[in-house]
Amino acid sequence: MNMEKLKVISNLQVNDRYWHMIVDASGMEKEIKPGQFFNIKCANESFPFLRRPFSIYRINNVNDTIEFLYLVKGLGTERLTDINADETIDVFGPLGQGFTIKNEWDTILLLARGVGVATLAAVAQEAVARNINCVAILSARSNNDLLAAVTLQSFGADVYKVTEEDGTSHVRNVEQLMENIFADHDIKAGFTCGSKRLSKLMQRMTREKQIPAQIALEEHMGCAMGVCYACVCDIYTEGSIESVRVCKEGPVFDLAKVVLA
Ligand SMILES: Cc1cc2nc3c(=O)[nH]c(=O)nc-3n(C[C@H](O)[C@H](O)[C@H](O)COP(=O)(O)OP(=O)(O)OC[C@H]3O[C@@H](n4cnc5c(N)ncnc54)[C@H](O)[C@@H]3O)c2cc1C
Repeated sequence: MNMEKLKVISNLQVNDRYWHMIVDASGMEKEIKPGQFFNIKCANESFPFLRRPFSIYRINNVNDTIEFLYLVKGLGTERLTDINADETIDVFGPLGQGFTIKNEWDTILLLARGVGVATLAAVAQEAVARNINCVAILSARSNNDLLAAVTLQSFGADVYKVTEEDGTSHVRNVEQLMENIFADHDIKAGFTCGSKRLSKLMQRMTREKQIPAQIALEEHMGCAMGVCYACVCDIYTEGSIESVRVCKEGPVFDLAKVVLA
């Protein structure tokens, strides 16, 4: 992991709530796993003081760039939108444990809600590069928020979309959709991010079907280096429950072990 100042190539608003940033990654550490994240200083002055964590959305080894897709939520992400092309951003990473993708998993299922797709897009990119079929369910408030669907399709993923706007995003509908996908495809592993309700569904269904699944958790973080313990979550370990740090032991965990309260 490194602290780097990287040149911003573009930082553009892609719909009313989401922004897409491309940064020059030439000269930085190239071993970035899907699911790992960078802790980014969102403004050049000292406020907001804490960095904010963002997953790798896409890695482009041809152009030597990395990309972030972010939802504007509060002060930090608002300030991030002020950064222009040719300015630099201060990033710390890559941090945390990424997803494990096994070559013997010939078909995988991704289930993402909202900006959780920013985290799972890198899984689709890596899977497709390894000739692993990728089926993805993307859930969002509106069709407008499903912009990453095009990115996943460009990687070769088979994408299903559900939204509040269309009245299709209820957990019962998603469960039926997953049953259909499990019937049509020999899914070998599941990946999820972005919604506790959908993660619980993935946890239950993958347990029933006895296939492995992983989750990327998005807890509030302080230091993101394992020192402050602001981001702990509970996992089951050998008959008891243990508190672990999302920034250090995660953000990716074996879904079967995560306590989803
Ligand atoms: C490992 C990891 C990877 C992430 N990857 C991405 C990504 O790729 N794209 C992206 O848009 N976001 C991502 N997030 C979430 C992102 O870090 C937060 O949205 C961001 O820190 C909010 O900062 P802010 O200053 O804009 O909002 P704040 O002013 O800090 O908060 C605004 C509101 O958002 C809530 N909030 C803030 N952080 C979180 C959080 N982590 N989980 C749930 N609610 C939160 C606050 O409670 C508050 O209500 C990730 C989070 C983690 C932990």
